[in-house]
Amino acid sequence: MTNHLFALIREALPADPAASTFIETPDGRRYSYADMLARSGAYANALVSAGVRPGDRVAVQVEKSAEVVFLYLGAVRAGAVFLPLNTAYTAPEVAYFLGDAEPALFVCDPAKREALVPVAGDAGTIRVLTLDAAGRGSAAEAADAQGSECSDVPRDPEDLAAILYTSGTTGRSKGAMLSHDNLASNARTLVEAWRFTADDVLIHALPVFHTHGLFVAINTVLASGGSMLFLPRLDAGLILKLMPRATSMMGVPTFYTRLLKDPGLTQAATAHMRLFTSGSAPLLAETHAAWRARTGHAILERYGMTETNMSTSNPYEGERIAGTVGFPLPGVALRVVDPDTGAPLGSEQVGMIEVKGPNVFKGYWRMPEKTAAEFKVDGFFVTGDLGKVDARGYVHIVGRGKDLIITGGFNVYPKEVEAEIDAMPGVVESAVIGLPHADFGEGVTAIVVGSKDAPDEAAVLAHLEGRLARFKCPKRVLFADDLPRNAMGKVQKNALRDRHADLYRDASKTS
Ligand code: AMP
Repeated sequence: MTNHLFALIREALPADPAASTFIETPDGRRYSYADMLARSGAYANALVSAGVRPGDRVAVQVEKSAEVVFLYLGAVRAGAVFLPLNTAYTAPEVAYFLGDAEPALFVCDPAKREALVPVAGDAGTIRVLTLDAAGRGSAAEAADAQGSECSDVPRDPEDLAAILYTSGTTGRSKGAMLSHDNLASNARTLVEAWRFTADDVLIHALPVFHTHGLFVAINTVLASGGSMLFLPRLDAGLILKLMPRATSMMGVPTFYTRLLKDPGLTQAATAHMRLFTSGSAPLLAETHAAWRARTGHAILERYGMTETNMSTSNPYEGERIAGTVGFPLPGVALRVVDPDTGAPLGSEQVGMIEVKGPNVFKGYWRMPEKTAAEFKVDGFFVTGDLGKVDARGYVHIVGRGKDLIITGGFNVYPKEVEAEIDAMPGVVESAVIGLPHADFGEGVTAIVVGSKDAPDEAAVLAHLEGRLARFKCPKRVLFADDLPRNAMGKVQKNALRDRHADLYRDASKTS
């Protein structure tokens, strides 16, 4: 038996691994495929000697670097389950994840070590190692001390390779369990669908703790033997400088709105590029049109989620239609059903999107009831997204059944923010909604009903700082005498969204 996911990477290795670049960073560091093999082998050995056994979770909250990619691959080769955490999570948030996942090892930023060691201790975690943005720390030293030869731990297609936490509508985050074959099959599918080859050079400016940057981007490059220009974060000027050497970029809509603001974005600047993809949040049709007018490229929009990897994509060849997410990918079955009765709906009818295929995850970690509730008896996963399939077969996402806000590509569940605000003295209640925002897609906004001694906007924002990851904090806090409610007493968030729809019309004032 082989290690299912790493076997795919071995199959796709370039003919001369030492001469072929895998990752290049803006500071001029270059890592070949031979370096990838050696360094991931050293990390696998370091994990094993730290006591990590097959099936154990390895939790990681570190800044982006090439080293964290090698740590991810080392975890896969050691048969462990990689568990990346958003770098914005605060210590109390990390405490929940470590307590729930019970990893054997936790790797964090050296600057946060002192604050997080007690958190890891409380969660029963055995060891804490560190890794910084430059790729140094005790985890890197542990790998330095090891040989690079390692025999990949055999893993079945169904064995877990990763757990990625998604926020829960009822407050509790859920760990989506992803198998070796969930990741390997999706990487293979995307290589085919988007025509990736060893000649590709991908601009990678996404975070690596989320499915988009970690799996969609990195696994697709690995499964094609291509290379990446690895940026720590979105930097429009640097991206424009790199485009003449690159062939492709994967981004969230914010990438495209930011780049469009740069006068350097022209047809000539993008002449060497063959593909721009967008996902994780809706790309406005006007952004698609503006990009096409400026560069001559039609952005390829696709749709997926942590639980399903990628499910649909606009065609590589054929019409990429703005405002749609294209067709179900090969091997993926997608249907739209009546959310109440579950009856399949015909084309153009809006309902709940359900998907099934080798891309769909294995369930939520230690939440069998939640898992059972989100899967139909015939194996379809209920995505929570509302949409339709048009007469030509293109899928449209029209909204979210679950009350999720997506801001700059990150998910925010209103309930979590509301709970923090409601706990403040002088607050009667609050409603948190997402409002259209040109830069972030949606801007997190709180509407607060206060009593006599109500806090003001600045006080609410100060209260949330440090309690919640920054991306979850409202951009604006508004005040109202009461919240609109329906006959059942439910707050009508649609009415609030309509009332304040223009709040961020001039995004530059608020971001
Ligand atoms: P995540 O699990 O963080 O990747 O978030 C998944 C959610 O992002 C999906 O359930 C959708 O609501 C949303 N999403 C992803 N891609 C798109 C897209 N192209 N258009 C609209 N919504 C999207």
